[in-house]
Amino acid sequence: MLMISRQRPRAYPQPARLVVGILIDLLCKALAGLGLTAIGVSLYRAKSLTDWSHHDPAWALAFLGSLVGYLVMSTWRMYHGKRTLCSLCRGPVFHVQSSAKNRGATKWPGLGYRTSAVLSMLFTGQYRCMYCGTPFRIKK
Ligand SMILES: [Zn+2]
Repeated sequence: MLMISRQRPRAYPQPARLVVGILIDLLCKALAGLGLTAIGVSLYRAKSLTDWSHHDPAWALAFLGSLVGYLVMSTWRMYHGKRTLCSLCRGPVFHVQSSAKNRGATKWPGLGYRTSAVLSMLFTGQYRCMYCGTPFRIKK
């Protein structure tokens, strides 16, 4: 019988790393959303794919800015994610590896392991490691 749900969340030893990881991931998602919106508006406003005379350069700048921002932030997210390890199993908290996931891991329907963990930390202050299933909390 699984007893995972009865475990009390333990404090993650470096809570600041979790907070930084949450912010990086949310910023990545916001930039991706802005980039997709900008390219959507640009395509909608263009008369055709070859006539960009009515194109608003502000949206092109928004797209380029969000693209550059996303590349920078996602690189940071990868480096930060690979260095933020579970204190028990040493699995990266924010970096999804191809290895087997624990069935107790935080995983919300339709979302990936990282997004589920980030949203869980954001709204409940807790998450379960995707590799060992151990519950952690951000607060000391
Ligand atoms: Zn773990």
